[in-house]
Amino acid sequence: MTGIRATNSFLRRADARCALHGHRLTPQRRQVLVLLLSRGGRDTAYQLLEDMRAVRTNAAPSNIYRALHFLMEQGLVRRVATTSTFMACGDVVGQHEVFMVCKRCGSVSVVHDEALRRTLEGAARTAHFVVDGQETEIRGLCESCSGAG
Ligand SMILES: [Zn+2]
Repeated sequence: MTGIRATNSFLRRADARCALHGHRLTPQRRQVLVLLLSRGGRDTAYQLLEDMRAVRTNAAPSNIYRALHFLMEQGLVRRVATTSTFMACGDVVGQHEVFMVCKRCGSVSVVHDEALRRTLEGAARTAHFVVDGQETEIRGLCESCSGAG
């Protein structure tokens, strides 16, 4: 996800999504989202803080985490636990997502799989387990790192 047009189109969708839920993409939340998008849509909170400090020298970690938390609540950003990164992911809400995380280059591919979601829900019901989260992460090698590309 690069380029001004892609960023602007993401921000328009983000504005619309926030408005739909009665929230607002404040300048600070928007800035964190823009920084994330300018990093190719995925980065660590630490790197985002560094980037933010290049613009606003007094930016604190809590500014970043609060903004990321809000963006995650809006479904605009996901946390990838395996790599401790945050990922702009605004297209789909309420669908189970499988993150395929490359353990060599750290790239993340997102796959939506309805059959897998149903299977996991069934397994959770059987175990009387209440699922809180919409992602599954699996690790391995991406196409280029595995030499297949
Ligand atoms: Zn890779």
